[in-house]
Amino acid sequence: MQMKQYQYYFFDLDGTLLMGGELIPHAQELIEELYVQKKQVFFLTNHPVRSRQILSNDLQSMGLRLTEDQLITPIAALEKYFPEEHKKEVQLYVIGSTMIKDEIRNLGFRIVEEAASNRDPSYVVLGMAPSITYTELQEGFHLLQKGRKLILLNRDLLCPNPKGYLIDTGSLARLLDHPHIVPDPVVLGKPSFWMQQAIRQQNAGNCHLSVIIGDSLPSDIAIGEAMGIDTCLVLTGVTSEDELAKHEQQPTFVYNSVSDIYLEIKEQSYV
Ligand SMILES: [Mg+2]
Repeated sequence: MQMKQYQYYFFDLDGTLLMGGELIPHAQELIEELYVQKKQVFFLTNHPVRSRQILSNDLQSMGLRLTEDQLITPIAALEKYFPEEHKKEVQLYVIGSTMIKDEIRNLGFRIVEEAASNRDPSYVVLGMAPSITYTELQEGFHLLQKGRKLILLNRDLLCPNPKGYLIDTGSLARLLDHPHIVPDPVVLGKPSFWMQQAIRQQNAGNCHLSVIIGDSLPSDIAIGEAMGIDTCLVLTGVTSEDELAKHEQQPTFVYNSVSDIYLEIKEQSYV
């Protein structure tokens, strides 16, 4: 079945447009063709390490033309979770990368660097980062014991990497989940309600004119289904044909890769 024409295209990054820090063949051409056709293009990711500014710079250096406003990350969802008027009242203890801390601070949030200081954070934010230490996790754990709320940038257990899977935020959160201290976290990444709100902000609620293209059934396809948005699975990432066959809910479209989507769209444009 050929993909319909849409006005809003939401692309996942890892496993969809990128693999191991390189663009998948025709990813760049596809995005450029959609720009020529005056489509609105956005990029959705659960990536919890780089800020939108740095991520957009990295993507541009790979050859994707975009601005950071087109990136929908867990931090965009964090902005939805805390309405503007409440931002200044909250103090966050962030277990995550320096880039993410800087981005959160630049949005106007107050970050408490040391949980043990006099300032008492109201929330613990956790996002996977290679620099996370035992001390940070332990301080966060002390705060959860005091009843503070846990916010996860995503709930993904694993992150695909050319070397093998990386431990993602959902796996780290398991360290903080203890029979006597059940954090019951707020989750921000795909397919969460807060990420859905960040998508709605971009398509102005025009879900029938939108499509989500991604490689993950539990995040990309699930968020589309939750919002009534058509979905397109590509088989270049975490989902195999066998897994897809076993899955109850099926995406609207399935392609081997974005290359096939590009070739089809290009062909349609000549008709
Ligand atoms: Mg992906």
